[in-house]
Amino acid sequence: MVATKTGKATVCKLLVDGEWVDSTATEFQDIYNPSTGEIIGRTPLGGMADVDRAAKVAQKAFLEWKEVPIVERARVMFRFKNLMEQRYEEIAQCVTREHGKTLPESRASVQRAMEVVEFACGIPSLMMGESMENIARNVDCETIRHPIGVCAGIAPFNFPAMVPLWMYPIAITCGNSFLLKPSEKVPLTSMMIADLLSEAGLPNGVFNIVHGGKDCVDALLTHPLIKAISFVGSTHIAKYIYTTGTANGKRVQAAGGAKNHIIIMPDADMQQTVQALQASAFGCAGERCMAGSLALPVGDAAEALVPHLVEAAAQMKVGPTDGQTHPDMGPLVSKEHLDKVRGMIDKGEKEGAKVALDGRKLDISSKSNGFYLGPTILDHAKPEMSVVREEIFGPVLSVVRVDSLEDALAIGRDCPYGNGAVIYTNSGRSAREFKHHFNAGMIGINVGVPAPMAWFPFTGWNASFYGDLHIQGSEGIQFYTQQKMTMTRWFEPSKTSNFQDPIWKPKN
Ligand code: NAD
Repeated sequence: MVATKTGKATVCKLLVDGEWVDSTATEFQDIYNPSTGEIIGRTPLGGMADVDRAAKVAQKAFLEWKEVPIVERARVMFRFKNLMEQRYEEIAQCVTREHGKTLPESRASVQRAMEVVEFACGIPSLMMGESMENIARNVDCETIRHPIGVCAGIAPFNFPAMVPLWMYPIAITCGNSFLLKPSEKVPLTSMMIADLLSEAGLPNGVFNIVHGGKDCVDALLTHPLIKAISFVGSTHIAKYIYTTGTANGKRVQAAGGAKNHIIIMPDADMQQTVQALQASAFGCAGERCMAGSLALPVGDAAEALVPHLVEAAAQMKVGPTDGQTHPDMGPLVSKEHLDKVRGMIDKGEKEGAKVALDGRKLDISSKSNGFYLGPTILDHAKPEMSVVREEIFGPVLSVVRVDSLEDALAIGRDCPYGNGAVIYTNSGRSAREFKHHFNAGMIGINVGVPAPMAWFPFTGWNASFYGDLHIQGSEGIQFYTQQKMTMTRWFEPSKTSNFQDPIWKPKN
């Protein structure tokens, strides 16, 4: 039982020590089904009291869990993966219900989440240390990776299953315990998945869930038992998490927002490019940190690209993601976010961008009270405009027409973010120049959304990441472990010593 019925809607419970318990919160936030605008639950906005209770339990659980042999910890992940596969469709439906993604998009995100669990199953090999014999005469040296203690994860709204799972399967298999604070907008999927961890045999208290907003986050950032913070969200908050967390002595990895540039060279395969760009800009309604949100067609590419892109995007079906109909794009997550995105389109138009496709004109009469916006293309945008410089996080593609690859690279250099960038070209030379020079950490060459899979780190640069070790892959393991170096020397018994070794005799 993960929620309690109160007057208005079911209130989410906390997971502490394997039990679903009530929060001490007195304030709550509504959770919506963005397709219909209905309230489907309430998130308690907890604070220090809830975090303290969960952190103490997690600390106790950590002391036992870290002593469980690593292969047994990995076996929990194998069972967890099997259970996720069995409940795959149900989890995807929960993502769609609370977030609004289409079902195929939700399924793909759950698949990505399960890949992190697969990666975690391999941690016994990946967590191995290093050793060297005779580093000095008769001295051997080795490093061993130890877990660090209670870790916390703070998640954004846009991938209710995938982003939390970037964090805790790795943290837990490395031997840590974990406190997850899901986004207060979409906590239900995390709660459903938590039951599978228990079913997989994870001891009580190793994985816990707390709920809330700023107060809850501040409690996590300052609680003395919490040793590490993984954060994914907007840049403004990521910077705050990094500075506050590190000032409180914690290890922090904080992934932030993005503006991802898509360069289209005149020699690109335009049919493929239109399809890929459409999926990149409007997939998940643009609510992706790796969404292609800024197209930079070079020279003649603009004329070959933009009219076809507008035509293709105009045909996209936007509607409820309730499983009865099969739209290409669902709603945005909330009314508040919809208003923000619409406001940014208005601002872009006022600043002089030409609205080549206007999602604000979407006929929403048949779409109940959901939070809908159609795909929008702002052509002839200029580098100084807000729609070029700022993250919009909605189905909005800005187009800046440039004369050369060098001009496109210059716009990238000037961008405060640095998550992803993509080039479409048939020229190895252009691709190489782009790959080497572009000012971002994740590069795609004729690949729509170059989001790395679980085996690679999510390598955002600049204001898209604060910290040293990125989320996922081998950097994820480094983040959730600390190394212990041991240097060993065993003396040879000397002839004068009284030491009687049963095997070794002193050399003559
Ligand atoms: P957000 O920053 O508003 O919220 C993220 C988390 O921070 C939530 O759990 C929220 O409760 C908490 N939070 C919000 N305001 C806070 C405050 N004032 N103090 C402390 N904590 C606070 O982000 P969002 O709107 O949920 O998610 C969208 C953002 O996440 C976008 O900017 C997107 O680019 C980014 N994102 C980045 C990545 C990446 O890997 N770089 C991945 C997914 C999403």
